Amino acid sequence: MTIEDIRRQEILAKTATHPCYNCAGHKYATMHLPVAPRCNVQCNYCVRKFDCPNESRPGVTTKVLTPEEAFEKYKVVKEKVPNLTVVGIAGPGDALANFDETKKTMELIKEYDPDVTFCLSTNGLLLPTYASEIISLGVSHITVTINAVDPKIAGKIYKHINFMGTKYEGESAGAILLSNQLSGLRILVAHGVVCKVNIVSLKGINDTHIPKIVETMKEIGCYITNIMPMIPVEGSVFENMPSLTNKEIEKLRKDCGLIMKQMTHCRQCRADAIGTLDNDLSLEFRGYQPQATE
Ligand code: SF4
Ligand code: SF4
Repeated sequence: MTIEDIRRQEILAKTATHPCYNCAGHKYATMHLPVAPRCNVQCNYCVRKFDCPNESRPGVTTKVLTPEEAFEKYKVVKEKVPNLTVVGIAGPGDALANFDETKKTMELIKEYDPDVTFCLSTNGLLLPTYASEIISLGVSHITVTINAVDPKIAGKIYKHINFMGTKYEGESAGAILLSNQLSGLRILVAHGVVCKVNIVSLKGINDTHIPKIVETMKEIGCYITNIMPMIPVEGSVFENMPSLTNKEIEKLRKDCGLIMKQMTHCRQCRADAIGTLDNDLSLEFRGYQPQATE
């Protein structure tokens, strides 16, 4: 058996115990470590808040942690939640726009617990920049949010992006983001990383375009797509845009299920979520004040 075969088998085993990639993995717990506050993209549906204990949605955390604090918290949670298998970095900004913190957190945890499954969530703008480091760090699962595969449509979704020191808006922003998302995914897929693509459905903007996104992800070799309703957030550009109804989301998932595997059990977790998908334990640990060790 080659090293590549062994790695492939290890990743398959990790996928079986990752609740977001496999419904049968629902008995396993995940933990999001909020070490990534900055973002290099401004989506028109997003407002990031750092102190919002009663709100449950991506981009929200009670506290941003340093890598050392995150490591201390991991040890405490692992002790109390033995079925914890997955550590994710999912904001509250973008995991790759804070790559030093993301990398340091993973290195600390990996040294302590080499068997943990690492999962990153990103908008994908910096995927080609960091793909080889992501692979070397042993990240087995990655989620990229892709809301359009047409720069014109993408241009309506993102207020701006910041890339290599320059701010881009409209279609230019959409074209750069899309190009990086697709090339980054191709590199990761070629190296055996299991890729999930989250798609935020936006009424009148990308809802009829979603099957095309899913077809593109299938062609690249992604493992699963996750079509989600937009959560309207006060203060965002899209705050008054109606979300797709549950029925409309169900229909999209059913139609796209004919193209490739669909996630239907996403909880749209906070950036400091802890627990199984059926049992949110994050409240128990939100008051935790880590004693960082240097
Ligand atoms: Fe918010 Fe994520 Fe969009 Fe950044 S990429 S603006 S954190 S939704
Ligand atoms: Fe899994 Fe969805 Fe929560 Fe991400 S937001 S950890 S995909 S359930």
